[in-house]
Amino acid sequence: MNTMDARDFIQIAKNICEKTGSRLTETRQHMLEVLFTVETPKSAYELTDDYNRLVNSPIMAMSVYRILNFLASIRLVHHLHSINKYIICKHPIGRSEDQVPLFLICTSCQQIEEVAIAADLIYALSDHAESRGFISAGSQIELNSLCKKCQSNIHQHSPGDFNGQNPTNK
Ligand SMILES: [Zn+2]
Ligand SMILES: [Zn+2]
Repeated sequence: MNTMDARDFIQIAKNICEKTGSRLTETRQHMLEVLFTVETPKSAYELTDDYNRLVNSPIMAMSVYRILNFLASIRLVHHLHSINKYIICKHPIGRSEDQVPLFLICTSCQQIEEVAIAADLIYALSDHAESRGFISAGSQIELNSLCKKCQSNIHQHSPGDFNGQNPTNK
């Protein structure tokens, strides 16, 4: 479980920015605060809405893209290309260079789990791609999957099981 709160995270983010010679501007910080509160990945447009609901000076989607690109470039945020959504990286420290993120994406509830895997695995996949004449462009792996909760929902509502429970709707 992650016990880091938003304030700790912003401090870590500031340090990372300093190390990379950039600055955590007010808008960048607000965007991180918005991302920190959401559990599931969100699109840039959804984040624009969330941002403008939370912060008094509204911004446009174009700026949101720019901010997200910056935050992704210093790995505080991940862009999940397969669903074109963004999620905060809650373990920006302590990851070594020979590890890359594997994202387990629940296709039912969009719950995300980020797991560190050996970078060698990506190299091995890139080798396969190259042997087919493709150049691999990714440094992360996204796996469509089904989380534990959604798996048990499927079992609960399998045919013949009338226990009177309704699936939880948002
Ligand atoms: Zn991460
Ligand atoms: Zn799920």
